[in-house]
Amino acid sequence: SYDKWEINPSELTFMKELGCGQFGVVRLGKWRAQHKVAIKTVREGAMSEDDFIEEAKIMMNLSHRNLVQLYGVCTQQRPIYLVTEFMELGCLLNYLRQRRGALGALELLGICHDVSLGMQHLEQNGFIHRDLAARNCLVNSSLVVKVSDFGMTRYVLDDQYWSSSGAKFPVKWSPPEVFNFCKYSSKSDVWSFGVLMWEVFTEGKMPYEHNQNHEVVMMVTQGHRLYRPKRASAHIYSIMQMCWMERADERASFTEISHLISDELEDDG
Ligand code: ADP
Repeated sequence: SYDKWEINPSELTFMKELGCGQFGVVRLGKWRAQHKVAIKTVREGAMSEDDFIEEAKIMMNLSHRNLVQLYGVCTQQRPIYLVTEFMELGCLLNYLRQRRGALGALELLGICHDVSLGMQHLEQNGFIHRDLAARNCLVNSSLVVKVSDFGMTRYVLDDQYWSSSGAKFPVKWSPPEVFNFCKYSSKSDVWSFGVLMWEVFTEGKMPYEHNQNHEVVMMVTQGHRLYRPKRASAHIYSIMQMCWMERADERASFTEISHLISDELEDDG
């Protein structure tokens, strides 16, 4: 007998490889010979599995048009599998880079709007993403952008990833209270969202591209912020700046941000 979040692995067919992430290989698959799904295989030693399995029960209940749905897990064997919604066009960062010059300003804003709505749903459910960035959003064939990998950094065993001095720690997406004290909140996600907006409006540039992480820590601490991308209007840049207030409690909420963006979409649309 299976718990309701367990998927019977014999009902999965494996197809082509889609990519490779922190936990291991991601493949396209079919569930019950019909529904396309993405299947993440978790490499042995890559994940704190028992903690994740507990959390998966919560994550499966997070359903929103702009969140990549976790359908279920296969935990009765090793390696374990995570089965999620399949996103045909892959990761947002590559999507932006491959379409440089081809996306209109409204499309760029629409991407930010999609992400803000997914994040608003996480915020309303008291769920912190901890690693929001364009590389952790995916795009489907209807061009809907969805947030992926929410909360997953907590289960990465590689300490280069979660130690703030580690090489894989996302310093360039982190506010001061995170790179100094690892104090995560929906307001630290808001800071990351501002950086994601900057990635969108630069069509996939690396933030602070000429600086290393330790330099970014000093610069941001001294009040330096990312510049206004050429494709961002003064008003759009002001939304990014609301995300980068030094004090977390002075930053906008995702509810406020998604309203500001939808107003802007209506004005220009
Ligand atoms: P990481 O752990 O490094 O964030 P992921 O494991 O989420 O990376 O994914 C690695 C790659 O696999 C992605 O960049 C993307 O190309 C592909 N991928 C992951 N999930 C999906 C999905 N649900 N649908 C389609 N492609 C996916």
